[in-house]
Amino acid sequence: MNTPSRAERIEGLVRPQIRALNAYHVPPATGLLKLDAMENPHPWPGDLEAPWLERLRGVQLNRYPLPQADELAAALARQAGVPPGFGLLLGNGSDELIQLLDICLARPAASVLLPAPSFSMYGLIARVLGLEVVEVPLRADFGLDVPAMLAAMQQHRPALTYLSCPNNPTANLFAAADLRALIAAAPGLVVVDEAYFPFAGRSVLPWLLEFDQLLVLRTLSKVGLAGLRLGYLIGHRDWLREFDKARLPYNISSLTQISAQFALEHADRLAAEAARIREDRAVLLQALAGISSATVYPSDTNFVLLRLSPGQASRVHGALREAGILVKNVHGSHPVLAECLRLTVGTAAENRALVTALRTQLQD
Ligand SMILES: *Cc1c(COP(=O)(O)O)cnc(C)c1O
Repeated sequence: MNTPSRAERIEGLVRPQIRALNAYHVPPATGLLKLDAMENPHPWPGDLEAPWLERLRGVQLNRYPLPQADELAAALARQAGVPPGFGLLLGNGSDELIQLLDICLARPAASVLLPAPSFSMYGLIARVLGLEVVEVPLRADFGLDVPAMLAAMQQHRPALTYLSCPNNPTANLFAAADLRALIAAAPGLVVVDEAYFPFAGRSVLPWLLEFDQLLVLRTLSKVGLAGLRLGYLIGHRDWLREFDKARLPYNISSLTQISAQFALEHADRLAAEAARIREDRAVLLQALAGISSATVYPSDTNFVLLRLSPGQASRVHGALREAGILVKNVHGSHPVLAECLRLTVGTAAENRALVTALRTQLQD
């Protein structure tokens, strides 16, 4: 009998859905000004470093972390203003919680409904888990196409609908009335992903009391703690109890628990950071609006979507990287994003460098 080749084994063993995928690509950034991933550009404030390290000194790395991270969960719930009866489930980044939800709802033939373009992990994780992905294009103004979304709900009865609000990569909040209409009509769960809440100032959290099918997702990644990997899902305890069964034990490391707890004790500093980024965003938006050959869109996030003239996005993206600045080229990922670059708001100096480099490239 012939021994199968490795390629044959891969084809015979790995699920076709996985083989058909491309891995989530993170481009190399060493030595580059990193404005591609919506990180907070400011490191941990210097005066907090010593007390934080002191706290870490007490961690017993030979022991498992607290399994439910109760103390941290309670602190996050207080800070977020989670209503009574509702709770919060912690994830190793909100990505892990998206995966957990999909795992729990992936019955045979189940589907996930997404506006497009939106956060790429919704589709990627759903496909990995064998869920059908139904995408409905956003309107040209990046608003939700409510009639089309309602029709898709009717037709596909999605188990889950993911709405990133504000939306990545279009940077806008969806109209509250549109969100309400979709949540009210959803046959399954609706996850409103508020990863950019600190830069938006509007939340659907109070609606949890109205809509049993609503869950809210948040993360510490965009406010300055991307390296910790901590996200949380807010919802009714009855829902969370089910999801918790599929969570891997000890998913939040001791170092993350202690560090996040410490960060929450200094929540005023995180809030000040977000406020500073919103101010820098206003300056950046104004500077970009002065570039005549580009269109800049309003932003409720810590990034900005910029549309260049035909044929320019890929060229300028490459030229910026040559000049040492890494941004995200979203041209080609969806027709609505033709010739668009996604720019993370950096420090004031980084934003100036970015605008100067863009002006040079666009000969403005
Ligand atoms: C960045 C981002 C996340 C990722 O969050 P992590 O907590 O870092 O996993 C989730 N949702 C949206 C819409 C994002 O843009």
